[in-house]
Amino acid sequence: MLITEMKSREVLDALTAGKKVFVINCHGCKEIRFPEAEASEYQKTLDVTGILTTDYICNPENLQIRLEKYAAQIEAADMVLVFSCGVGVQTVASALDTMKVCAACDTYALPGYQGVTPLEHDCDQCGQCYLNLTGGICPLTACSKSLINGQCGGAKKGKCEVDPNMDCGWERIYQRLKKIGRLDVLKCPVQLRNYAIDK
Ligand code: SF4
Ligand code: SF4
Repeated sequence: MLITEMKSREVLDALTAGKKVFVINCHGCKEIRFPEAEASEYQKTLDVTGILTTDYICNPENLQIRLEKYAAQIEAADMVLVFSCGVGVQTVASALDTMKVCAACDTYALPGYQGVTPLEHDCDQCGQCYLNLTGGICPLTACSKSLINGQCGGAKKGKCEVDPNMDCGWERIYQRLKKIGRLDVLKCPVQLRNYAIDK
C-alpha cells in the first residue's frame, strides 16, 4: 500500500506561479490513496490549459493514448503538474520528455499489499519526492546508491560503477534537465533526506 499527499501550498505555488498548467490526475489503483478533494480545490486556483483525470498513468501505453487526445492543451501549457504517486509522475516525464513535468504530491509507504504490476519506473515511497529537482527521474531508484545530491563520480562512459549494465541515474538526470533547459535546478541548496518519514 502507499499513500499520496499533496505538497504544501507554498511549494506548489512556487512551482506554478505565472505558468499555464496542464494538470494530470491519476485516480489509479486501489493500493493508493489519492487526495482527490484537496487536489480539485487547489486546481481551481491555477491557470489551467486542460485537466486529464484518468487511471493507471503508470501504464505507458494507456498514458500515451490519453496524452494524444490532449496534445493541443499540453502544447499550450508551460508545465505539466501531476497528481499521482512517484511512478505516475516518472511515466509522464518519460512520455513528455521535452516538457517541464512536476510532482504535486509526495508518496509514502503504508503496510499491506503492494501490487505486482511490472512497471517501467520505480518509486521507493520516500515521502519527500525529489522529482521536481531531477527532471522527473527518481534519484532513489535510478541511482544504485540512492544519492540525492548528484553523481558519485564513479560512472564510466555513462554506466554505473556499481552495475556496469545500467545507465548512471545521475547522468540520465543531467541529460534530462539539459533537454528541458532546467540545469539551473542543480544549483539549488543541498537536499537533506528525512529518514524519519521513510518506511
Ligand atoms: S523521489 Fe523517488 S522514491 Fe521519493 S517519492 Fe519521488 S519517485 Fe518516489
Ligand atoms: S555511478 Fe551513477 S548511478 Fe551509479 S552509484 Fe554513482 S551516481 Fe549512482
